[in-house]
Amino acid sequence: MSYQVLARSWRPQRFADLLGQDAVVQTLRNALSGDALGHAYLFSGLRGVGKTTAARLLAKAVNCAEGPTAEPCGRCDSCREVAEGSSIDVVEIDGASNRKIEDVRELREMLRFHPTRDRFRVIIIDEVHMLTREAFNALLKSIEEPPSYVLFVLATTERHKVPATILSRCQQLEFRPLSADAIRAHLEAVAGREGFSLSPGAAAAIAAAAQGSVRDALSLVDQLRAFAADAIDDAAVATVLGVPPFEVTAGLVDALADGRVAAALETIRGELAAGHDATILYHETGRLLRAMLHLAVDPGLEPSLTDDQRGAIEGRARNLGVDVLTRMLGLWLEQEPMLRDAANRELALEVAALRLARWPAVRRLERWLAGETAPPATGPPTVTGRDGGPGSEPPSAGARPASLADALWDEQPRLAGAVEAARPSLEGDVLTLWFAGGAGASARYAGSAAMRRPLEAACRRLFPGAATVRVAVEGGSGADDAPTDELLAEVEADPGVARARAVIGGEIVGVRRDGGG
Ligand SMILES: [Zn+2]
Repeated sequence: MSYQVLARSWRPQRFADLLGQDAVVQTLRNALSGDALGHAYLFSGLRGVGKTTAARLLAKAVNCAEGPTAEPCGRCDSCREVAEGSSIDVVEIDGASNRKIEDVRELREMLRFHPTRDRFRVIIIDEVHMLTREAFNALLKSIEEPPSYVLFVLATTERHKVPATILSRCQQLEFRPLSADAIRAHLEAVAGREGFSLSPGAAAAIAAAAQGSVRDALSLVDQLRAFAADAIDDAAVATVLGVPPFEVTAGLVDALADGRVAAALETIRGELAAGHDATILYHETGRLLRAMLHLAVDPGLEPSLTDDQRGAIEGRARNLGVDVLTRMLGLWLEQEPMLRDAANRELALEVAALRLARWPAVRRLERWLAGETAPPATGPPTVTGRDGGPGSEPPSAGARPASLADALWDEQPRLAGAVEAARPSLEGDVLTLWFAGGAGASARYAGSAAMRRPLEAACRRLFPGAATVRVAVEGGSGADDAPTDELLAEVEADPGVARARAVIGGEIVGVRRDGGG
């Protein structure tokens, strides 16, 4: 026997088997058992969620030899023929290829005759929104005054394209996209019954890729069985779908949250080198951030993960917290237009990663500007390198800070800002902090008596051999250089401004002294 695709062999033959459409099923059952059947239905919803299947079930139900009934027998000639698609009284029309008025006229001609054997002539028009305006007008006449033996079932993925005149004459039933969880459970049931193995991670990845469509999910499984025979594991899914393994995406999110730019870029380049698509990696990363946000809000909220996956990210999600994850997800989603439109999507993905990885630095600036100096209890992401150059590593408790500014940030944010751009130079046991010529005010602040103790402590954390710490201004006579535009210099030297420019770039184009001081 030749292989039959799963979407076909697993097409539901009873309303009870229609996945995830409980409200629709309930409505149709009530209509059938209460003898309150409409003469025209409009089924709308995403592709592959069961609209055509439900239309055929309805056709079976009204024409079953033992019906009309909500539970068609499945054995009578009518039931069998509908299931095989050979019933002469059940007509399926593809609206996309029969969209002209002539097609609808032909249909109307057909409606003049009573059904050959069954109670109803059931007309199923798939993708009905594709009909031309003239065809819709012709169809409208039939739907307005249908013969008693005609039942219309119109199906569409785009209800908004169906004219209001048609809509108002139909009973409208909305089919919902299936949850990833429902699809995953279904795939596992199919695997069990068909006798092939499907790893939990593979089932979750397929369910996610199917985006609410059970038909797409089953088609993917067909593809995977062709590739991996009867053992579909995470690696097979990664290869066939081009979806990165979960650990890779999780590692990328970790690096982004830590501000480890080098590690993030390395992950991205590795995935691209493995032939994975930049857009898929982007979407998978967004999906994981969203899952983490869900977990941070409520651990019971995210059903699309396997237990192992949940275990791997739950703690991290809790640590980052709702605020940080919301911001990260927002920043990540903002990059979508760039990734969609860019000629070089791989570069666009790297830029997206850079922007997100730099965000922890921006966040510190925000915290400082807001007057918060103590880190929030949720444990914010940590910047481990000012430019995240090669060799940036994850932070660990008591680790040597990556820069003087980092060493000072939590206790002395203003001093940290002041020394941000200073260049340390160790000669023997004398550490000199060199300031650029225009940074006189920063140098003065860093060299002030009040700052001596914290500055020296921070310098010794970074340079354990430093016995003496000096502050010096490059190319000048000292910290007292007076630039011509004193006000501008004052602003430029302000550590907050310096920090802001270091993070977000930009030039100071003018300074206005506020009346209030
Ligand atoms: Zn039957």
